[in-house]
Amino acid sequence: MPTSLHDLTFDELRELIVQDGLRPSHSATLWNALHFKADEDLNKRTDFLPPLRKWLEAKMKTDFHTDVLPIASEILSADDLTRKYLLKLQDRQEIETVVMGYTGRHTACISTQAGCAMGCVFCATGQMGFVRHLRPGEIVAQVHHARRILREKGERLRNLVLMGMGEPLHNYDNVMKALGIISDTRGANIGPSKISISTVGVVPGILRMAEEGSRYNLAVSLHGSTEAERAALIPANQRWPLSDLIAACRTYCEKTDRKIFFAWTLIAGVNDTAEHAQRVAALLQGIKAHVNLIPLNETAGYDGRESIETAGTVFHRIIQDAGIPCTVRQRRGIDVAAGCGQLKAERRKREKVTL
Ligand code: SAH
Ligand code: SF4
Repeated sequence: MPTSLHDLTFDELRELIVQDGLRPSHSATLWNALHFKADEDLNKRTDFLPPLRKWLEAKMKTDFHTDVLPIASEILSADDLTRKYLLKLQDRQEIETVVMGYTGRHTACISTQAGCAMGCVFCATGQMGFVRHLRPGEIVAQVHHARRILREKGERLRNLVLMGMGEPLHNYDNVMKALGIISDTRGANIGPSKISISTVGVVPGILRMAEEGSRYNLAVSLHGSTEAERAALIPANQRWPLSDLIAACRTYCEKTDRKIFFAWTLIAGVNDTAEHAQRVAALLQGIKAHVNLIPLNETAGYDGRESIETAGTVFHRIIQDAGIPCTVRQRRGIDVAAGCGQLKAERRKREKVTL
């Protein structure tokens, strides 16, 4: 199986080139084309010197390939501020990448796995099950896709959120390698402070981030304030109970002195009452926390309903009154098949209909 050039760090690429007797400067040229320019087709480059061109010609036949993911499907929101893509991988799996352009600070939401093993009941990706981990190059390629889209509009990608399909900390090594490549100042140059990793609460992954002094932003999907309540929504709570998760968050804050963003998807009657809010506030005492309230995107596989606005307002006020900053996430792109995994689910439905 050929290796993807997009899987390699700057140092790994240089090592390969130097091993084959080429000057190290050729690796900088190639890196620039792959990660700064985000070229789709290396053959179109006219500035490659003959040794690099020959090396590539020979190697791309047998040893290497690149990750450029064709668009399987694309949906634009009515205001053209959200573009949602279904991108095709080489084994024909499809993943979602979203480009959001609100407030002029463009953000890409990218996937880390095809499907997801965590099975959260309200999530369209969870309802699909797990297919496989993405390689670093497949994660990097989504960022380059977003950058090319924005470049056409004269815009720049500034922020990255790992909130697409999959659980990033279940694919820890590939995700961290990809983020190293994406934040490299010689390439896409998206700084760690502009990158947010969202996790369902994979405790060993959170502790590893703390240990490694990770500089990425961490978001933890909470959604439940007692063990039973959370386990009913998030089966992974059986493996990593809420008590262990909160303890890991405390360790993370102590070790890194960083804030954690807690996501709370509001589901009518399930987790959106004043008592829930009070329990959340108590749970998070002593943690440098920011709570993000998310309206539920209703999915075919779950009969929960979106909370009414007043429930959200009361919840918001209780969290804030407890001294915890709290924001309500705007529903972006509801008209583009909305949340995580839903575009893929919609397409599957359509395919079933046409079969
Ligand atoms: N696996 C990671 C990241 C991807 S999901 C995680 O779970 O955190 C990104 C966020 O979208 C999570 O907070 C998740 O709980 C939320 N989410 C998933 N499906 C949703 C839906 N149907 N409505 C609202 N939020 C949803
Ligand atoms: Fe996986 Fe996150 Fe969806 Fe849960 S919410 S199934 S962890 S993608």
